[in-house]
Amino acid sequence: MPSELDLELLDYELYPDRIDLHVISTAANICCPVCGELSHKIHSCYHRIIHDLPAGGRRVQLQLQVRKYFCKNTDCPRKIFTERFVTGLASYARRFERLNQALMGIGLESGVILLPAHSFSVKISASTVLRFIKKCNIPAISSPKIIGVDDWAFKKGRKYGTIIVDLEKHQVIDLLPD
Ligand SMILES: [Zn+2]
Repeated sequence: MPSELDLELLDYELYPDRIDLHVISTAANICCPVCGELSHKIHSCYHRIIHDLPAGGRRVQLQLQVRKYFCKNTDCPRKIFTERFVTGLASYARRFERLNQALMGIGLESGVILLPAHSFSVKISASTVLRFIKKCNIPAISSPKIIGVDDWAFKKGRKYGTIIVDLEKHQVIDLLPD
């Protein structure tokens, strides 16, 4: 799990396909997100399940104990707030950002053909990977103005295909099998 989160491991469970880590935040200064007042008065706790990068072929999930606090500032409109985590974990996120990044990369590389879930030891739906990809800033592809077309040998002169090249950018656009 990301070290910058100030989390303490309380317990863990090993399953054939999964590792559960029971963790709690060790952050000392909990402040109200609205007024900034420090609070140590706990209202309640609940568990959030957060998925992390796999380890040793097993899915890793954190059972994070999240605390809710009272805001002691009587002028503050927020009476109860949930503790925040520093980085790498957005509020209410179900996955660490680094797992999102890894899944996005796999989705882009695979052209969104969904191999990722099982090969990456992560249970995730095809639509979720598609959603990651839609969030990416993919640079626009401009149409080539001058293209070159030529024969291209696949098998040492025995089998030929066609190569299409962007002559301005000196980049291969496509290799066609015939
Ligand atoms: Zn407050």
